[in-house]
Amino acid sequence: MSAVYRLPRSVLDQTFAHFRGCGLGRRECQVLWVSPWEAPDTITKAVHPEHEAHVGGFVLDDHWLNDFWCSLAQENLGVRIRCTHTPARRSTRRPTMPIP
Ligand SMILES: [Zn+2]
Repeated sequence: MSAVYRLPRSVLDQTFAHFRGCGLGRRECQVLWVSPWEAPDTITKAVHPEHEAHVGGFVLDDHWLNDFWCSLAQENLGVRIRCTHTPARRSTRRPTMPIP
């Protein structure tokens, strides 16, 4: 089953800006697209998680992740899509705590 989302150009621009600024094309990076539960098909924000990335993988910051879950609940938002920038040489490690 697939879903169709409305994606403002600004969210797409923010996503690529995060990838250029963080990963520099050499390290793995992720951006989460979120939307409100009242309108889940309309992406409203690109969230760049605090993480470490290196040649061998990608690790989310545990404290950031906990705060992020709380902010989602407070703002009535949900994660809809996880965008991943992977360097040309693919990593074989997966995130230690993946976000659905
Ligand atoms: Zn990043």
